[in-house]
Amino acid sequence: MAFDDSNKSVESTEMPGFNSAELREINLIDCHAHMELYRKSDVEKEIRKAKSCVRAVFDSMTEYRKAHVHKSWELLKNYFGFIFPTLGYHPNEAKRGNWEKVERVEEFLLDHAKEIVAVGEIGLDFYHATADRERENQLKIFRHFLSIASELDLPVVIHAREAEEIAIREVERAGVEAYFHAFAEAELTKSAQDAGYIGISTGIAFMPQVKRVAEKASVERMFVETDSPFMSPFKGMTNNPCNVSVAVRELEKLKSIEADEIMSAVLKNVRDFFGVEL
Ligand SMILES: [Zn+2]
Repeated sequence: MAFDDSNKSVESTEMPGFNSAELREINLIDCHAHMELYRKSDVEKEIRKAKSCVRAVFDSMTEYRKAHVHKSWELLKNYFGFIFPTLGYHPNEAKRGNWEKVERVEEFLLDHAKEIVAVGEIGLDFYHATADRERENQLKIFRHFLSIASELDLPVVIHAREAEEIAIREVERAGVEAYFHAFAEAELTKSAQDAGYIGISTGIAFMPQVKRVAEKASVERMFVETDSPFMSPFKGMTNNPCNVSVAVRELEKLKSIEADEIMSAVLKNVRDFFGVEL
C-alpha cells in the first residue's frame, strides 16, 4: 500500500477506453489491492464494481496499525473465490518492533496457511522508517516473515520503498518466489525481475518513475495492479480494481504490446506464482 501518492494523480474523470466486450475478452485481473481498506460502508459496493470488470482480485491483507488481519479476513472471507487473500505484516508497522503483535499475526497466518496464496505484503520502507532502530526492526521482522513463507513453501508479496536493493538481496537469500508490488526503481528493474516478478501499478498514469520501470520491464515477469484504494489514476478519486485497465492501456502504448497479450502474460504469471487456476 502507498499512503501518500494519490494526490499526485492526473486530472481526469474519464474511464479508460475499453468497452465492455473488450473487457470480457482481455480478462483483466488486479494482482494487488486492499479491498478491506475502503470505508466499511463502501466495501460491498466497491467489490461489486470490481466484479463487473475484473476476473479476480489478489488482496494483500497486511497488519498495519488498526487494520488488523483478523478483521480484514472477516470482512472479505465471503468474497473468496473472487478475492484471493494473502496475509502479511506491513513494514510501516514493523518499524515499531512490536514482537507481541508479530506473534499474533504469525499465529493467524499459520492458522490460515492453506487458504492464502502468498505471504504479504511484507518488506522494507526506508522512506517512512528513517531512524536506524526502525530500519533494524523492519529488517528483522521482514526476515522473520520470509522464513515463515519459506517454511510454508508460499511466495511473498513485497513492499519495498527506498530499500529495493536490500529487499531483492533478502528475497534471494531466503530462496522464496517474490512479487515486488508497485515497483518504481527503474535501475533495479532487471535485478527485481531476475529475483522475481514486478507489479506495474496504476501509478504508471502519473508517476514518471513507474513509466521508466515499465519501459525496461519484460511482461514475462510482470503483474498489473491498482493497490486500491490507493494510487488512483484519477485525481481526488478512490481507486478501484476496474482501473487496472489504465495500467494495461499505458503498457500497451509504452511497449507496443496488445492488451490481450499483456493480460495473457499476466495470467500465466498469476498461475505460476500464486498457483491459482483462473
Ligand atoms: Zn499494497
